[in-house]
Amino acid sequence: MVAAALKRFHGLLLCLAIAAPAWGQVERTEFRAMGTRIEIIVRDDDPAVRRAALDEARHRFERYGRDWYAWRDDSELARVNRALAGGRSAPASSALIELLHEARTLWCRSGGRFNPAIGGLVELWGFHRPPPYEGPLPDESAIEHWLASDPDPAGLQLGDAVVASDNPAVRLDLGAIAKGAVIDRALAAMRATGLEHAMINAGGDLAVIGRADGRPWRAAIRHPEAGLLATIELAPGEALFTSGDYERFREAEDGRRLGHVLDPRTGRPARGAIQVSVIADSGTRADAAATALLVASADKWPEVAASLEVVHVLRMSTAKGLQMDERLAARLERLDPSLATRLRPLPATPPRECR
Ligand code: ADP
Ligand code: MG
Repeated sequence: MVAAALKRFHGLLLCLAIAAPAWGQVERTEFRAMGTRIEIIVRDDDPAVRRAALDEARHRFERYGRDWYAWRDDSELARVNRALAGGRSAPASSALIELLHEARTLWCRSGGRFNPAIGGLVELWGFHRPPPYEGPLPDESAIEHWLASDPDPAGLQLGDAVVASDNPAVRLDLGAIAKGAVIDRALAAMRATGLEHAMINAGGDLAVIGRADGRPWRAAIRHPEAGLLATIELAPGEALFTSGDYERFREAEDGRRLGHVLDPRTGRPARGAIQVSVIADSGTRADAAATALLVASADKWPEVAASLEVVHVLRMSTAKGLQMDERLAARLERLDPSLATRLRPLPATPPRECR
């Protein structure tokens, strides 16, 4: 009888050991910021570290989500835009100036497909407001005028605490990069509290540090129509971002979908792809690259991806179906078997020379 009790006791100990392994306790929080649902999962043994890390992360979303949003009159970016439109320089925080440096480099590396000076065009198409998108489409002449005014970040002067532009048509819109940049800043702030393992998921765009438990963090890539396209295990430090034409779009008179990612070279909605997912070792780069590669054509995207130094690309278009780089195919799990997949290598070319 004693032996039976001991055995039960041992069984219990074994269960406890399995239930509380050496991986640290997990804590999760969820809130809304940057127009989407933010989910943060942290893992650490120390509840004080978990709490401090979650507070730091949330603070970054609240602060930068507000400061870097162009379409709120009282934001830092809106204030900078008003000054640039009036031909004046604007005082700016070091955080914003740092992001503008990154955005300018990524604009150059993307061959102009990602253009953070695109705000005027975004406004013409009405995508500066939340949906529904109604009302008339922009006039041809207004689009031509925007193209002729040639707004890009080349002429931005970024000082220590001041921004100026030699082109008053520049209207900064960081909508295609801000989410990635905020995730990077939030992860860095969490690391500074001593946290080593976390995932931040901002409406399906995400980045991770460390590992989930004994295994890597796992993420889902959604199918543009519905459901799941595939899942993937992310290595520490990787970010997975998706851009598509199906979440925020308006319709042309012939029913064609006009997505909110615009091609800065034509002034019209991107026609390259339906959806692009990118894995990179920075959220900032993954976010800008997903937007740039949605604009890129079927034959140019591998070259643009290489110039942006991304790790993987998965591209879905009407003409070419599902395309991805060869090495991604080996990493995807639960890939929808009904999809015919074409593999392309990413060229080993160095990034474009950009300052
Ligand atoms: P989401 O906001 O759905 O994650 P993106 O990261 O692709 O999608 O960002 C799209 C937003 O970026 C648009 O709503 C617009 O504000 C801005 N934008 C649109 N086209 C471009 C472009 N070619 N380059 C830079 N920003 C763009
Ligand atoms: Mg983007």
